[in-house]
Amino acid sequence: MNRMKCRRCKAPAVVEVRRHNAAFCRDCFEHYVRAQVVRAIAHYDMVGPDDRILVAVSGGKDSLALWDLLLDLGYRADGLYLGLGIGEYSSRSGDVVRAFAGERDTRLIEVDLAGEYGFDVPTAGKKGSRSTCAVCGLSKRYVFNKAARDHGYDVIATGHNLDDEAATLLGNTLRWQTEYIARQFPVLPAEEGFARKVKPLYRLSELETAAYAFLRGIDYVVEECPLVAGNTQLRYKDAMNQLESTSPGTKAQFFLSYLDRAAPLFATQDDAHLTACERCGQPTTARFCAFCRARAQILGERLGGPSNEPVVIADLSEEVMPVELYGANP
Ligand code: AMP
Ligand code: ZN
Repeated sequence: MNRMKCRRCKAPAVVEVRRHNAAFCRDCFEHYVRAQVVRAIAHYDMVGPDDRILVAVSGGKDSLALWDLLLDLGYRADGLYLGLGIGEYSSRSGDVVRAFAGERDTRLIEVDLAGEYGFDVPTAGKKGSRSTCAVCGLSKRYVFNKAARDHGYDVIATGHNLDDEAATLLGNTLRWQTEYIARQFPVLPAEEGFARKVKPLYRLSELETAAYAFLRGIDYVVEECPLVAGNTQLRYKDAMNQLESTSPGTKAQFFLSYLDRAAPLFATQDDAHLTACERCGQPTTARFCAFCRARAQILGERLGGPSNEPVVIADLSEEVMPVELYGANP
């Protein structure tokens, strides 16, 4: 590594990007990362200069790097932190996000799952019919959308990186979940009741966002969520990393070529009919939204009257979630 030179300026390199067969010095690496984000935003027309962006920040490297990048690029980007109640892990995450917001003097919206909705993620995992990760994901999508709409943001940005997207695509492909595959896109346009959602880091690998956060001196939570051990997403990431180690570029090939060449083949025409959830008013394909149903189940409450029966059955199906939460069309 010591002998490598920066591809851009020929100074000694500090970061190697194997899949591009390139290395960069600190400044040029930051330039490279920024260029990838600018390209992602432009390619999918993710955000305009006047859009108000709500960045969902977990306290991990990706979302804090994203917030840093968007602010640096001059966007109007505020943060949203959702307290999931996962013990020490969540309290440290909250501290890190608050410190970042304080340093940059930017607005941070905080939502506490237990305070607002009466349950935390560890309890939800034990009580409901969904896995811990499923109910956590459901809660995040629900709260992100609600917060964006309540506070008048045009778009929600998340820190999903290339590794996340490649692993998700691998999982969806192994099961040929064609509807999920069709919706796995770096931008999901706004529609009735749903704010636009964007993933500006989809071109950057996890190592790259980690290197960026480190070089920028961003303090972030390094530990994984303690509840995630054995999670299938992690196993798919491991599998992709094994392929990547012998054939650098596999991950990017898999996901970026999907976007360019395969995604159009999966685009569906299904126009699921959305109505307002009778409990909370958020859009849903059923009488009550998936979040309200999960919440009722966790808290041991009944939702609605006797006509609730079909809804309870639908509640057991994870299949309804993405349609409800992302809307029908990608
Ligand atoms: P994950 O689902 O943990 O892989 O996180 C995906 C993205 O969701 C992150 O990059 C963040 O943008 C966002 N996110 C995850 N957890 C939180 C949280 N507790 N509060 C706000 N945003 C979060
Ligand atoms: Zn609801």
